[in-house]
Amino acid sequence: MPHNPDHRLAFLARHLAPTPQDADALIDLSNVVRNSRVGPRHGRSLDRLRQVVDALARRTSDREVRVYAVADRSLRHGVHEYPGPDEPWLLADWIAQGLVEEADDADEPLLALADVTGLPVVSNDDFKDFRLVHPWIQGNTGQFLGMRPGPDRAVVLHERDMGVRSAADISRKLEESDLKAHGLLKGSKRLLMTEIVKRSWRCPERGCTLYDTRRGTAVRLPYVRRDVPLCELHRTPLVDDGPRTAVSQLKLLVDDACVHRFTLDAGTTVVLGRAPGEGGITLYGLLPDPLLRRVSRRHVLATVDEDGLRLRNLSGYGTRLLRHGAKSWSALSDETPAPFRVNDVAELTAGVTLTRSARRYPAEIAAAWQRSARQVPEGPARAATRRH
Ligand SMILES: [Zn+2]
Repeated sequence: MPHNPDHRLAFLARHLAPTPQDADALIDLSNVVRNSRVGPRHGRSLDRLRQVVDALARRTSDREVRVYAVADRSLRHGVHEYPGPDEPWLLADWIAQGLVEEADDADEPLLALADVTGLPVVSNDDFKDFRLVHPWIQGNTGQFLGMRPGPDRAVVLHERDMGVRSAADISRKLEESDLKAHGLLKGSKRLLMTEIVKRSWRCPERGCTLYDTRRGTAVRLPYVRRDVPLCELHRTPLVDDGPRTAVSQLKLLVDDACVHRFTLDAGTTVVLGRAPGEGGITLYGLLPDPLLRRVSRRHVLATVDEDGLRLRNLSGYGTRLLRHGAKSWSALSDETPAPFRVNDVAELTAGVTLTRSARRYPAEIAAAWQRSARQVPEGPARAATRRH
């Protein structure tokens, strides 16, 4: 490296996810870096991102927590506002490596991603101009994490109440003519795509199962032409097959660092353990030997339904549960499946824990959607993806 930035900042790269697939949160990077109420006393500072990552690591109980960051193109300029030239250089390097997404206006891709993935957004922005196109922001109390100064101006994250902004509050930027003027029309296409991503589709042609979610394991994003989702094989408009069922994602942690993520479809019941048997999630190969020996063959039962994710203990060793915000652990019931929410922690044995990520839809769908939103569609194949 030609420069030598603060090594604690260079170390941040390991927490920057190249795609939202394995991220635990979305970062409004310009808003974080420029938040002069917290962290160092500079107009812009990457140390604020470091502090946000630290706070997220505590919040998710995962010291390897990963974030997907989106920055305004202007962020790496204004070099004089940073503590030194190394920081904008480091930022440019992350962008070049694909660890930070850069956009003319980061808010638009950020909010569309939040809508599609369900991941929390770290930002102090009110997103007033986006409330008509993203009505889910109105009154939202769960998906936005704000920053406020704690002791020594350290970043403290808190769940924000986004409140409801009246139409008069919302700027006229949203009128169609203004949308065009602001180059956000591509953004409105992207919004249409988020609606398409959130629903299942079916081809009306006889025997065509290309998009059938009940057959096979393919997760395929429809080919969209003039705002109409089409079968990429038959070029026939697809039939709306109802809302796409959300998935749940479990994270396996060893010594408080995520080592694996499992995606559980709605309607599934699955056993986790050292050797859970057919259809189960085996932890063999994921845990070091001494830890594996302290995990039962069938340790925990996970159930996903419309009410969310529930866990029940199956192990003679027991499983402990730490509710988000609670001070002490409780025993996970052997009889009644207990709700398992984002930021709760289940401990199978000392050093082996499960947490839940906030992600809502299959990762492949979000990734394919993101690729399609970035490009002018050239052909249907680009929009297709396959679950592995
Ligand atoms: Zn078809």
